Amino acid sequence: MGICFYHKSISRMRIGFIGLGNMGAPMAANLVAAGHQVVGFDTADVTVEGISKVATVTEAVKGMEVVITMLPDGAILKAVYTDIVPQCETGALLLDCSTVDTGSATEAHKLAQLAGLLSVDAPVSGGIGGATAGTLTFMVGATDDALERVTPLLEVMGQRIVHCGAGGAGQAAKICNNMLLGVSMLATCEAFSLGEKLGLDAQRLFEVLSTSSGSCWPVNTYCPVPGVGPHSPADNDYMPGFAAELMLKDLRLSQNAAEQVDAHTPMGSHASALYERFVEGGGHGKDFSAVLPALTASRRGQSDE
Ligand code: NAD
Repeated sequence: MGICFYHKSISRMRIGFIGLGNMGAPMAANLVAAGHQVVGFDTADVTVEGISKVATVTEAVKGMEVVITMLPDGAILKAVYTDIVPQCETGALLLDCSTVDTGSATEAHKLAQLAGLLSVDAPVSGGIGGATAGTLTFMVGATDDALERVTPLLEVMGQRIVHCGAGGAGQAAKICNNMLLGVSMLATCEAFSLGEKLGLDAQRLFEVLSTSSGSCWPVNTYCPVPGVGPHSPADNDYMPGFAAELMLKDLRLSQNAAEQVDAHTPMGSHASALYERFVEGGGHGKDFSAVLPALTASRRGQSDE
């Protein structure tokens, strides 16, 4: 448990990589660059330099020591695991880096366990930039044995590995983090919108917030005001970054999980409703910080209370 730092390993592994999208493709490319042999499969027509694309998911697992998945959601993950687990080599390890609901993660672990395979859930934080730079944070749910086996690969794709607990714990930590992120981004946008309407200069307000008790990641690192704070999607016409619909996906996962365990999360629930309205009202495809201009343009009483 806790934060683990391990030394880099140079042993070459045979890896099957399923899901070569925005995140999967650069993660797989980094494994190739580190000298691993990677075979890739995706239902879409994608190519990644250095990766032999195979035509069937079975070919992506046959003869592989590790099979990595980076897929859109839990239903797809379960369907893929149902197909691949019987095809995996004895002793193979399954590493899922997708963000999925905790129920699907637990079921995926069970499928692997029933077949005598080790499995790891290791959702990531850091976005496409982190995937490309190999600086992701991995939140890991696994046994010590399983984590030890995948650590050399996680070190190639990321910078920080946090062992959160047994199977499923990585997904649990991820949704707690992203629920907090959604809530704090909305609160940050509200503070800057209110400040503007009170006649405050955004740069001055940033200087106060980023050094006072209101400081938080959306203020200090990812400021939603164009031209203020470090470079962020706000400086690029709110191109993602982290798309609003992905924020909504994670907030919904947090609320489903909260319902299952009877946790009271009123702010998370409200954030989920606000992002749903934002995404459906034209925010789809924009960065999740683009709530700021939408909020500033709206008037009190129009919505939200
Ligand atoms: P994406 O949609 O770009 O990639 C998913 C890929 O999976 C696509 O290429 C798709 O064709 C492929 N796919 C779908 N069904 C498949 C199947 N049955 N077999 C094989 N391939 C299949 O999504 P992404 O942005 O790469 O995100 C992947 C995961 O990472 C998601 O769970 C997401 O929530 C999570 N995540 C994304 C970000 C981000 O900034 N994009 C950050 C952190 C976590």
